[in-house]
Amino acid sequence: MTAPWELASDSEHRVAMEVLLRGPISRTELARRLELSQPSLSRLTKRLVRHGLLIEVGRVDSDGAGRPAILLDIESSSHHFAGIKVTGQYARGALVDFRGEVVEIAETPLSGTEPERVADTVAAVVRELDRHTRSTGLGVALGGQVVNGSTVRHAGFLGWEEVDFAALVEARIERPTIVQNDVAALLAAEHWFGIGREAETFVVITVGAGVGFGAVVHDRPIEGEDFGLGLISHWPLDCAGPPCSQGHRGCAQAMLTEASILSRAGAALGREVGWAELIDLAKQGQPAARQQVEGAASALGRFVGEVASLFLPGAVVLSGEGVDIAAIGNRQLTEAIASLSHPAARPPRVVIREPETVLWSRGAAIPALQVFARGGVTE
Ligand SMILES: [Zn+2]
Repeated sequence: MTAPWELASDSEHRVAMEVLLRGPISRTELARRLELSQPSLSRLTKRLVRHGLLIEVGRVDSDGAGRPAILLDIESSSHHFAGIKVTGQYARGALVDFRGEVVEIAETPLSGTEPERVADTVAAVVRELDRHTRSTGLGVALGGQVVNGSTVRHAGFLGWEEVDFAALVEARIERPTIVQNDVAALLAAEHWFGIGREAETFVVITVGAGVGFGAVVHDRPIEGEDFGLGLISHWPLDCAGPPCSQGHRGCAQAMLTEASILSRAGAALGREVGWAELIDLAKQGQPAARQQVEGAASALGRFVGEVASLFLPGAVVLSGEGVDIAAIGNRQLTEAIASLSHPAARPPRVVIREPETVLWSRGAAIPALQVFARGGVTE
């Protein structure tokens, strides 16, 4: 690890953040983007290079006249950050470098869902991730409403109300901690490492225990205090569908959650089934199982079609534990999307993303990395 450093000015924060997002990048381009004079920029980058945060990585023919420009990039190994995704059963973590590349992973089952116990488990995962390289800060992602990057106002699956979870974790490992909603973490991961590299406007829809939604519009995530409330859960999809827990007919919760699909599948099959079994039966072509899964895929297709009409996204990413319905019922999904479109419209690009745990953990680390680069955390 390089010597600890501390950013001295707002300008240095801005330079570090810009290189983090756009690097490798020339000084000329940096100066243009930040509206700084070349001499000012050179002075700023000189200090950042000396402190080991930025490195010079190569040369490009900058002006077509043969005058080379040296490119600057973040020294990815200068700092590491831990990202932890908390589910109802596990805390799963990834240690990432300053570029967000995963260098370690670790996982520990929860011993209970009380806040103190979950904080103990998160701290244990961080210590394991830190075996070789100490993380500078960490991010925790969980399903719920989180405010100020710290307090979990509501997390139904853990039974929490108003828990300052960041404080509980910080008390155990003395590391700056940022807590966020897990769909926001996944959205950030897609923005930085996934589809965001190809599309500046995209949406993410997750299906599983709940229904999640997030959007990045012109390179900016849509954020807000109520993000983690899962407000999209009651988006109407089928006016003739079954009722949800709040009595809406055919809303997203009633049509797309695992529990709702399993309940209909159980009735159709005449016995209870679990999610893995239902997916297996549908893949094997068992008619009742197939029909339920294809029905859900069709409802998901309507959801995608409606969202595509609203956001005009370059891509729609489908993910979550229940995303198998989209692959099995791909024809129904595609037909439903087409039924809501216009003949002249390009169909939205749909990306089916297997629920990759490490991606959620990686996304969880991003806010810690961003806050550090912006200078909100110093050593
Ligand atoms: Zn509903």
